[in-house]
Amino acid sequence: MSISENLKNVKSQLPPGVVLVAVSKTKPVRELMEAYGSGQRIFGENKIQEMESKWREMPKDIQWHMIGHVQTNKVKYMAPFVSLIHAVDSLKLLKEINKQAKKNDRVIKCLLQIKIAAEESKFGLDGATAASLLASEEVQGLQNIKIVGLMGMGTFTNDVEQLQSEFQTLKKPYDQFKQTYNLSVLSMGMSADYDLAIKNGSTMVRVGSSIFGTRNYS
Ligand SMILES: *Cc1c(COP(=O)(O)O)cnc(C)c1O
Repeated sequence: MSISENLKNVKSQLPPGVVLVAVSKTKPVRELMEAYGSGQRIFGENKIQEMESKWREMPKDIQWHMIGHVQTNKVKYMAPFVSLIHAVDSLKLLKEINKQAKKNDRVIKCLLQIKIAAEESKFGLDGATAASLLASEEVQGLQNIKIVGLMGMGTFTNDVEQLQSEFQTLKKPYDQFKQTYNLSVLSMGMSADYDLAIKNGSTMVRVGSSIFGTRNYS
């Protein structure tokens, strides 16, 4: 199947209101342009330099989402254009994003990443730390960022019950904080589990291989 057929197929499974981030990491511009040609305008990347070079080459009405772990010293490269940073997990990073956003006269939207997976390798905050960040005066004083929601990554497993419980671990704090902090984005679900994530309240899915095919990292 072609990229545009895959895209159409994925989109047909999304209820209204669920946003699709087409995860295009490692894929060449030519393939992203095929998705663009079929109407896709939101792309997700996990490496800042790769995202920057695609941004330079591609049409300017694309919204670029940084979905990977962010190193503080690289924030400056994406600050001029990034539309949403998914995986924010520290005050230090929020402050750097704020600083670089200010230099660019922008307000950059961010999600706090919550650790929901059992795997050690996955980043993220626990619910209590996220709560204290949201509540802190220091964070609320950062005028050039806006925390609009939460993000999480489930364990790489086929165990539906485990995934379900991990998604609920993210949904709970989201529901708790939503009103008070005016959150509207719950980013959870990838190719293998986005249907389950949506059943558990996801408002934004990050889908790569189901659209672009498997990735080759060599
Ligand atoms: C790569 C990646 C995805 C997409 O994964 P697929 O299984 O290809 O859909 C989603 N979220 C994050 C954070 C990723 O790094």
